[in-house]
Amino acid sequence: MKIAMIGTGYVGLVSGVCFSDFGHDVVCVDKDPNKIAMLERGEVPIFEPGLDRLMEKNVEAGRLSFTGDLKSAVDGAEAVFIAVGTPTRRGDGHADLSYVMAAAEEIAQAASDYVVIVTKSTVPVGTNRRVKQVVKKANPGLDFDVASNPEFLREGAAIDDFMKPDRIVVGVQSDRAAEVMAEVYRPLYLRDFPILTTDLESAEMIKYAANAFLATKITFINEIAALCERTGADVKKVSHGIGLDGRIGNKFLHAGPGYGGSCFPKDTRALARIGQEHGLPMQITEKVISVNEEMKRRMIDKLLDLCSGSFNGKTVAVLGVTFKPNTDDMRDAPSLTIVPAMVGAGAKVRVCDPQGHHEGEALLPGVQWVDDPYKAAQKADLLVILTEWNEFRALDLKRLAKRMQTPRMADLRNIYSPKDAKRAGFEAYDSVGRAGFF
Ligand code: NAD
Repeated sequence: MKIAMIGTGYVGLVSGVCFSDFGHDVVCVDKDPNKIAMLERGEVPIFEPGLDRLMEKNVEAGRLSFTGDLKSAVDGAEAVFIAVGTPTRRGDGHADLSYVMAAAEEIAQAASDYVVIVTKSTVPVGTNRRVKQVVKKANPGLDFDVASNPEFLREGAAIDDFMKPDRIVVGVQSDRAAEVMAEVYRPLYLRDFPILTTDLESAEMIKYAANAFLATKITFINEIAALCERTGADVKKVSHGIGLDGRIGNKFLHAGPGYGGSCFPKDTRALARIGQEHGLPMQITEKVISVNEEMKRRMIDKLLDLCSGSFNGKTVAVLGVTFKPNTDDMRDAPSLTIVPAMVGAGAKVRVCDPQGHHEGEALLPGVQWVDDPYKAAQKADLLVILTEWNEFRALDLKRLAKRMQTPRMADLRNIYSPKDAKRAGFEAYDSVGRAGFF
């Protein structure tokens, strides 16, 4: 089967590589010539574990190629996937659909035979119908269908998620499109997961509802964590205790500095906007958005307390700035709120992150980048763990404490315990949702 993938970002590249691994013939397209040049040299423009090897294997097998020329990729393809960005539109929270619509128009002009135009990007309800109109207008004679196929992969575990999904959601309007989509995913059929075929609108809504629900779950436990701190309860025990209830489930119950990343912030904002546009405010989601912002500010207050009320002249070592481990993605990361607050208030901030430097350089002006947590801690007044990379899970706390000017730690991912910190010589330790500031 011949597939074209428009957009080679976190979703497009992973999807394209995995489809080629299924045995399909895949051409990945991007309008960014630098990305295409890197991909053609065999370099992966993003950090995603395992992607380099899988890409190399399929390029060598002749099933995977890259181009900047959309027309040549689309010509003869049975399915063309749109996997371009849908960032928040400036000013109103709506998803910016300009990239999706521009891609749809280009596809329309390039296609000549029957093709299914599949939206993989996360798009508001009604977008696929708009894509259909755009394509019809740009190429009135074209025989085509649209399909909605939202993606649920997580950065950092993207290949596994793509190959072993909890479910695949496909929204279609015709049996013919359903058959093409079934053929695309047929190689996965031997595995035990459901393919959910729906109408276009339900497929579009499933993606936003899923992300808003997950953002709500995280925000809920973060708020409970704040109350744990006031009452002396331990949020780790509380999470465990409620997660054992099968109706609640134990995932997404880790308290932390607030959610971030390329999806939850923009998708919750977009859902809130969809609600407003339909005269039905999404009250829970709107509250989640504001509580999450408060959580990040609460973290800044914690750090300020550990710096005795002033950041001015303090040296702070920050471990981890990407929005989660195993990615280089910095989009809407909590670090982008927390670090500038410290820098702006006069702190000298040293940052150590296994993959964040390249993306973070422009986003975090005024910080010093170091490649080793112990170097970061040298003569520092405060150590902050902001992203739980494996590299930061087994630090020699004694060695760290010894190097610091004042050994104080803010463990915003609850990796260590107050006991560990005290034993290692830290004079103060704070985390999220656990009594333990000593
Ligand atoms: P991204 O910004 O990493 O990549 C988008 C790519 O599309 C860029 O390389 C850009 O140059 C390219 N592009 C834009 N317009 C183009 C055009 N007309 N022709 C060719 N290339 C074009 O975005 P992403 O993180 O991969 O997200 C893509 C979509 O998938 C978004 O809607 C997002 O919400 C959704 N999504 C993302 C994730 C995730 O974890 N990142 C997970 C699920 C769904």
